[in-house]
Parts: sequence; C-alpha cells; structure tokens
Amino acid sequence: MSLKLMMPDLFKTIAFRLTLWYAGIFSVSSCVAFALFYFLATQTLQEQTDRDLLEKARYFSTVIQRNGIMGASKLAVIEAQAAGEKRIFFRLLYPNGEVFASSHMSYWKDISVDLDAINTLSHTKGHVFTTWLIRPNDQKARVLYSFVAQNVILQTGIAMDFQSKFISAFKTVFIAAMGFIIIFSAVSGLFLSRKALSGVKAITRTANSISAANLEKRVPVTGNQDELDLLAHTVNRMLDRIEALIQSIREMSDNIAHDLKSPLTRIRGFAEIALINMDNIDNYRGMAANTIEESDRLLDMINTMLVISKAEAGEGEFFYKSVNLTAMVQEAWDLFVPVAEDKCIDFTHEVPAHVQIEADAKMLQRAFANLLDNALKYTREKGRVHVDLRSETDGFVYIRVADTGPGIDSACFEKIFERFYRAESSRTSTGTGLGLSFARTVARQHKGDLIVTSQLGKGSVFTMKLPYRNVQII
Ligand code: ADP
Repeated sequence: MSLKLMMPDLFKTIAFRLTLWYAGIFSVSSCVAFALFYFLATQTLQEQTDRDLLEKARYFSTVIQRNGIMGASKLAVIEAQAAGEKRIFFRLLYPNGEVFASSHMSYWKDISVDLDAINTLSHTKGHVFTTWLIRPNDQKARVLYSFVAQNVILQTGIAMDFQSKFISAFKTVFIAAMGFIIIFSAVSGLFLSRKALSGVKAITRTANSISAANLEKRVPVTGNQDELDLLAHTVNRMLDRIEALIQSIREMSDNIAHDLKSPLTRIRGFAEIALINMDNIDNYRGMAANTIEESDRLLDMINTMLVISKAEAGEGEFFYKSVNLTAMVQEAWDLFVPVAEDKCIDFTHEVPAHVQIEADAKMLQRAFANLLDNALKYTREKGRVHVDLRSETDGFVYIRVADTGPGIDSACFEKIFERFYRAESSRTSTGTGLGLSFARTVARQHKGDLIVTSQLGKGSVFTMKLPYRNVQII
C-alpha cells in the first residue's frame, strides 16, 4: 500500500475539516454576540446622552420662564463653562436659524445651524436630534434642537467622548477576545474531532493490518453504543463473513483437488499397467474402458459443479417444458429397483396419476435420482425406502423420499447441502458430496426447495417442494 494512501493529505482529513467548521462556527457566533452587545451598548449610551440633552432643554425652558432671554443667555455661558467648553455648547436661535446667544463656540465652529432640523422641528413642535462629526479628531457630537420658549430654539450639543472611549476599548477587547476565541476554538476543535475520530483510526489500523493470513483480527468495540461502535460492529460482521467465505473457498478447493486427484491417479494406474503388459491387447481394452468410466465420473462432477455455480450466480441454463411428474417418479423408481433388490430393501412408492408441471426434465431427473441413490446407499440391508408424490392445496407439489437409514444429526441439516460436504460416517461409501447441493439448487431454480427431516438411528425424509403455480393435474 502506498504511503500516500496510508497518510491522507492533512487538508482533506475529516479532523481538519471538523476543526475548521468548529472554529468557524464558534468565531461567527462570538462575532454575532459581540455585534449584539456593541449595538445594545451604543444604543443605551446614545439614549442616555439624549436624555441629558432633553434635561438641559427643560432647564433652559424653566430659566426663560423665570429670568427671560437674558437669563438663558447667561445660563448658556455658565453651563458650558461648568461642564467644560469642549464637552457641551448652547446656542439660542430664532425660528429662522439666526443665533442671538451662545456659549463659547471656538471648539464647536464646525457645527453650524442645521436649517433642515429647524424646519422639521417647526413642524413637529417637539425636538430633533442630529449627530455631527467634529474635526480634526473625528469626535462625534449629539445635537438637540428644541423649542425652549415661543420663538426661541435651543441648539445644544454634547461631545460623545464616552461613546468614543467605549468604542476604542471595545475594539481592543474585541480583537484580543477574537484572537483568543479563534485559537481556543481551533485547538479544542482539533482535540474534539481527534477524540471523536480516534475510533475510525482504530478501524483503519485494524483493516490495514488484516491480510489473508490473519483474518481473525477484529476491530475493538468500546461498548459505548455510539456510531463508531456500530461501524466497528458492521466491519467485524463483514470480516466474519469474509473469513467464512475464504474458509469455505479454501475447503472447497481442497475438496476439488482431493476429488480430482483420486480418479486421475486411477487413470494413471491403468495406463501404467497397460504399458507394463504391452503385449496383452485385453489390458488396453480394460484400460480404455476404465479410463472412459473415470473420465465420465470426472466430467459428471465438473458438470455438476458448473450447474451449481451457474445457478447460484443466477446464470443457470434451465429449459422448461411440460413434464409428467408421475411418469418421471415411476421411471426413476423402476431404475433403482435392482439396487434395492441387491440390498433386500423394501422399496415402495405411491404416486397419483398424471401430475404434470413445467420443469427442466433432465435436471429434475438427476436431482431426484440423487435422492433415491442416497436413500438406497445409506439404508442398510433389509431396510425400507418409500417414495411418494403429493400435490397440496398450499400451491406446491411434494416428492418425498423416506428411508430407514442411519439418520442425520440435526446440527448437520444445513451442512449436508454444502458442496463437497460428506459426513464422517459416509466416507466409506462412494460419492462426491455434490448430490444434495445439486438437488437443492435444482429445486430452488424451480422456485421450490429441498427440505430434510431426520432422526439419528431412525431414518431421514428428503422432501422436494416444487411450486404449484405452473402445475397441471389431469
Ligand atoms: P454424497 O452422497 O455423494 O456423499 P450428498 O451431497 O448426496 O453427497 O450427501 C451429502 C451427505 O449427506 C452424505 O455424505 C451423507 O453424509 C448425508 N446424507 C445424504 N443423504 C442421506 C440419507 N438418506 N441418509 C443419511 N445421510 C445422508
């Protein structure tokens, strides 16, 4: 495996992307919180300033009522001096904007009389606020226009220095805090994503360390029942299946090698005998006949394997036509009568007249013959084998082969249908271990099944179930 595959590009890793997301979301949320705080704070400060200005206007109004215009003019100078002439100013205006009294205005010379504001004020008869920028130090000033007596307008402005100080302090805090937040969120994001993905690393490590030779390794499961645990379970289940598959492939290839070896060794033996006795023509005849027989057995085995493999891969070549099942069972039974007689087996059958289905006759014959062959092969002398054919109302036709043979351990009910499986006790009798696998494949290819019921020491019943769908009973 290349190093590039094992060490992914840092920028493409999920950990890096998660860190980026984490830092991004954290920083954006912090920015939003800061912006909200900034907006509320400046708003509150401005409202406080506006309230102060309105308070001044009310004071001027009272003074005019008591001491007249002159009193207000003096108040403008005194008030400005008391608060600081760079902090506050007062102008008293006629409604046409003409200034008739003011505090010391050298600092505030940039702020003229805003005729638009006066115009608006004349219409609303309330008060109007404006905001100005005082050069050269770009300080903001809040200015109020308000009627303090009939035909007397007070223009008063206040430096928003507190707000400016707040903004500059806020900027410093904001930059420092954001720097800290970005670094903190990136570090904690990296830590969290690494912690969250540590399980993935363990899975990757295990997957990398697994080879055909050590398939027994498994991903560690933490028991947290989280997504990574689920993934680990899934990977482990997959590894179990792969291991079982490789094991069965291994067993199958061992069996194939073994089953091919014996007939080939026999063929070689026949040829050797013929070579040693070159003069005897009968040896040649014997060798040819035996070679043909062994070759037929080999071909039969290979063909059976091919039929099973193709059917399992969904590529089975089955040719369906109308088959008289009654006749087929009867003929097969007839064929096996001599074998049964040889072993003194009570071989009986019971078939209704003319059961006809759509099937591949050749395949079905071979499958059924395998069942009969097994029943007669594994049943001891003087035993019983019974065959019957029934069509049921559940939509299936049942061909049953029941014997009084040795029976099969229930733990092996599935195993006997595996390719090349032969029970230990059956090794002494002839066979390839393909008969039942073939018969079940054929039944399933017909959308039916092959089922076994058995009791050790009492006997077995193999039932081939074929669908009733395309069945005709005449
Ligand atoms: P083979 O008969 O060539 O060994 P099969 O695939 O036909 O292969 O059967 C697989 C195994 O199932 C047999 O080896 C035998 O152990 C068991 N078996 C099959 N039929 C019977 C039966 N009628 N009674 C007892 N055991 C059986």
